[in-house]
Amino acid sequence: MSKQIVILGGGYGGLLAALSARSHMSAEEATITVVNRYPTHQIITELHRLAAGNLAEKAVALPLEKLLRGKQINLMIDTVQEIAPDQKTVKLAGGAYLKYDALVVALGSETAFFGIPGLQEHSFILKSVNDANKLREHVEARVAAYSQTGNKADATFVVGGGGLTGIELVGEFADMLPGLCRKHGVDFNDIELYCVEAAPSILAGFSPDLVEHAQKSLEKRGVKFLIGVAITEMQPTTVSLKDGSTIETSTLVWTGGVQGNSVVANCGIEVNRGRATVTETLQSTSHPDVFLAGDSAVVMSPEGRPFPPTAQLAWQMGELVGYNLFAYFNGAKMDTFQPVFSGTLGSLGRKDAFGTIGGNKTKLKGLPASLMKEASNIRYLSHIKGLFSLAY
Ligand code: NAD
Repeated sequence: MSKQIVILGGGYGGLLAALSARSHMSAEEATITVVNRYPTHQIITELHRLAAGNLAEKAVALPLEKLLRGKQINLMIDTVQEIAPDQKTVKLAGGAYLKYDALVVALGSETAFFGIPGLQEHSFILKSVNDANKLREHVEARVAAYSQTGNKADATFVVGGGGLTGIELVGEFADMLPGLCRKHGVDFNDIELYCVEAAPSILAGFSPDLVEHAQKSLEKRGVKFLIGVAITEMQPTTVSLKDGSTIETSTLVWTGGVQGNSVVANCGIEVNRGRATVTETLQSTSHPDVFLAGDSAVVMSPEGRPFPPTAQLAWQMGELVGYNLFAYFNGAKMDTFQPVFSGTLGSLGRKDAFGTIGGNKTKLKGLPASLMKEASNIRYLSHIKGLFSLAY
């Protein structure tokens, strides 16, 4: 009888797990159902560009129905409410219960607000196409409002967190705001664009010369960095900082960190700080019929440190899980997860970027980095296309 595979999440991990599983198993062998909150596979690594109007929505929101068409993969657009691993069921917000023989959890991560007062209520985040659209519309509306009222909070934009998400977003804002100002008759010199970082430096983990390149490039375009000072509170239009100072702003975008998905954290499978712990074959350490792909899991390096939750890791995990599902049902030997790191590239707006390639060995800055970043996006899209053609 056909095995029931339920895949929770249609992001990098979930989509690749589904396509990869289907490339190893026919519809007679396995029924595959993908559940996703949105009808689209979202290229979340490019959301900063959508937030700045530097990309069309259709480039970052690919219809799942189209990606899965003809592959005999069922698609349910719904929100996962509860996973009951001991009963082998999943409850969806729409009321459906799904029963599985094997489950893939690929629900990604959530924004971490760290209990900072007012932050969740009064800040914008950048985790979905909706978030990016909302932010772009809001920024334009604030610039337009400033042109009418001269209210300084409307001309002040704050990005909280100087990790890759915050830096890529502030770079887009730096490129976008001069044009918006021209459109609404505002002097760009009136605009204040801040990036606030609690740690002693932005971009933790990057070499000092790359950090300096990023910071100088952004400062040249008007970004003001407040480094070594944490955001401690957000009121509707006031950001409070650890040093006692405040910034009046109608726009705080919070990019201060991510945490495991709360549905996964609370479902009863073994977790470490909210992220599922996995074996080297990417099975839950407590429930071997539950496989994990992407940010919902914590994968430890041989040195015992968690690998950062990135898109490149998620798609490699998804692909391996697809094969391991086949092995699991057929008593074959499962593959172990051996991540390949191609490097990390971050954009600094439309014309600049920085990062490392070749397993983090080669540093890149400027145009070569921008071109490599663009190439890595294209590589991902052609990869899913390739897998699609392989599927049964
Ligand atoms: P992050 O955790 O990497 O960075 C968050 C930053 O916010 C940190 O520098 C932290 O010190 C700072 N911060 C935390 N609390 C603060 C506070 N109260 N006030 C001010 N600053 C505060 O989060 P991220 O940037 O969203 O990245 C998440 C993961 O996604 C990382 O693994 C990252 O490498 C990955 N990512 C990769 C890319 C890329 O490859 N281009 C892009 C975006 C994200």
